[in-house]
Amino acid sequence: MEMPFNELSYWMGMEEARLMGVKCKECGAIYLPPRPFCVQCYKDALEWKEFKGDGKLVAFTSIFVVPKSMAEQGYGRDNPYIVGVVELNEGVRIVGRIEGVDTKRPETIKIGMPLKADFPKVMEAGVSKAYLAFRPA
Ligand SMILES: [Zn+2]
Repeated sequence: MEMPFNELSYWMGMEEARLMGVKCKECGAIYLPPRPFCVQCYKDALEWKEFKGDGKLVAFTSIFVVPKSMAEQGYGRDNPYIVGVVELNEGVRIVGRIEGVDTKRPETIKIGMPLKADFPKVMEAGVSKAYLAFRPA
């Protein structure tokens, strides 16, 4: 893969339903989304690493006051969506939407529950765009 180690490549990977991060060839540190250099050893000897997308829920919040783009998808005060922090089995934490759960009964959503990455697509200004979501595994 000749893609630059940046967020754009990360988003392009997501369009192909792939969770692309990087690994430092010097010290083995891993990053998701990708970084242009390693903040552990300050080297830029990076290589692509595809994450499997399995992990567990670390924290989450219900979003009731939604941005316009989400309101257009039907979310709002009566239909909140969930954003969570997920710790992947590889050891990194990433923020994504939590789907396939009862958003109106957040007490049913459990910290530590196993999750798997999913890459749903939405239309944004007439363009299909993938985003990162997690569903109960
Ligand atoms: Zn390093």
